[in-house]
Amino acid sequence: MTHSTDLRGRGEAVEGGDAIETVLGHRGLQLEEALIFEQDSAGSSGVDLPTAPEAPDRLGTFRRQGRIGLPGLSEPEVVRHYTRLSQKNYAIDMGLYPLGSCTMKHNPRLNEAVVRLPGLAGAHPMQPVETVQGALALIDELAHWLKELTGMPAVAMSPAAGAHGELCGMMCIRAALDARGDSKRRRVLVPESAHGTNPATAAQCGFTVDPIPANAKGRVDLAAFRAKLGDDVAALMLTNPNTCGLFEPDIIAIGSDLHEAGGYFYCDGANFNALVGRVRPGDLGIDCMHINLHKTFSTPHGGGGPGAGPVVLSQALAPHAPLPWVVHSGDGFALVEHEGDAGDAKPFGRLKGFHGQMGMFVRALAYMLSHGKDGLRQVAEDAVLNANYVLAGLEDVMTVSFDGPCMHEVLFDDRFLKGSGVSTLDFAKAMIDEGYHPMTMYFPLVVHGAMLVEPTETESKAGLDAFIEVMRSLAARAKAGDADSFISAPRLTPRRRLDETAAARKPVLRWREEAAE
Ligand SMILES: *Cc1c(COP(=O)(O)O)cnc(C)c1O
Repeated sequence: MTHSTDLRGRGEAVEGGDAIETVLGHRGLQLEEALIFEQDSAGSSGVDLPTAPEAPDRLGTFRRQGRIGLPGLSEPEVVRHYTRLSQKNYAIDMGLYPLGSCTMKHNPRLNEAVVRLPGLAGAHPMQPVETVQGALALIDELAHWLKELTGMPAVAMSPAAGAHGELCGMMCIRAALDARGDSKRRRVLVPESAHGTNPATAAQCGFTVDPIPANAKGRVDLAAFRAKLGDDVAALMLTNPNTCGLFEPDIIAIGSDLHEAGGYFYCDGANFNALVGRVRPGDLGIDCMHINLHKTFSTPHGGGGPGAGPVVLSQALAPHAPLPWVVHSGDGFALVEHEGDAGDAKPFGRLKGFHGQMGMFVRALAYMLSHGKDGLRQVAEDAVLNANYVLAGLEDVMTVSFDGPCMHEVLFDDRFLKGSGVSTLDFAKAMIDEGYHPMTMYFPLVVHGAMLVEPTETESKAGLDAFIEVMRSLAARAKAGDADSFISAPRLTPRRRLDETAAARKPVLRWREEAAE
């Protein structure tokens, strides 16, 4: 099958409202690309395989009848296909990626050089421990840095992402409650502004989720929180700074009241970029916190992975950390892999095959060592400064949701668009035509039409100025009544506005001949 004609024209460029059609759907040097299955030509292959020798057939009726169904392409066709697709993708290496709550910072190339060192890149998790002493030392050193930076006594390294870290932390809490025979505590308090993974994790671990409202300042309503405490509360899951980009000033009181009531304090550490090197979460009274290495410590993410979400644990929860962990003795490093070798500890089990995301560990440690303690502190300071620079540059034309300075991200809502006919979604789509990946939209849920902007510390002043100029001009255009141009955006992308609801609710994940008709 060749290039299906119905793909053409959907990405037409627009000039003064007129569509520009090109013969093959190419736009400048951005080439229209058919699915790899549509490019299939039977018999094409990137390799010359010798004809397989005849062998006796022992499969009987299980023998495959038709073609295996993989597309046949030559090597240059494959290379071009994936290179063209990659050009349609947006990446932190191309420009500002202001997704709030995601900390899309530059990934230093030094990290990439270190992780490709043959001794690290070629290590296999099933090698005998004597042959991977360096890799275990690296995990141990990274664990040390995480404990130092958070002021916590223990860390579980194996969780593979933030959400997986939450699962780990909540399973530790559940195990600690079970160990003290406290089967009544099944309620988990979660602020309304929380990331969706928090309530999902609590529910997954068999707890019921009890939301705590935010106050007018975008923080936990302390009185409402206190009213919710009781002898059935297992834990509080709190994000600090919270997902409105605001520090929770009552966090110490919250922690001590919670402890007094017998609950554990889970802190969602996804926003640690605002605090690293300046505040040790352990000093705030928390019992556990996941750390998204792929956010705070610059390991590449987006597009679904990879990630790493180690969880720091208090003295109370540490005995329940999952297997395995690294230990150090006179004979070097070893791994505790089995409950029988765990001494007094009572691990809740195992969370993941092997020891964690080694590639992310290497990159995160390279980032920490190259920054040093003072450099990491500056990361937090610059991240907060940059977000406040964006806030100051836009507060007179957009509506900032909560008064006062922000931490590492700034939250706007759609009040400034009122009456313009332009929604948060339309505004975000118009940003794409201007060369900017949209900010996080409609999250957190505590304000209407949220727009959460997190520039990170790696943007220069010139880069932020350009972003501010674009946002100001879009805001002015929206207010001037040019709703049509927003509603038809994006106009310059390979595809125009998609029906995202249908794509999410009824995803077509499989290519079929009929679908390409
Ligand atoms: C990113 C994020 C998570 C989840 O982390 P993943 O690594 O994506 O699983 C949880 N909470 C908050 C506040 C986040 O920003």
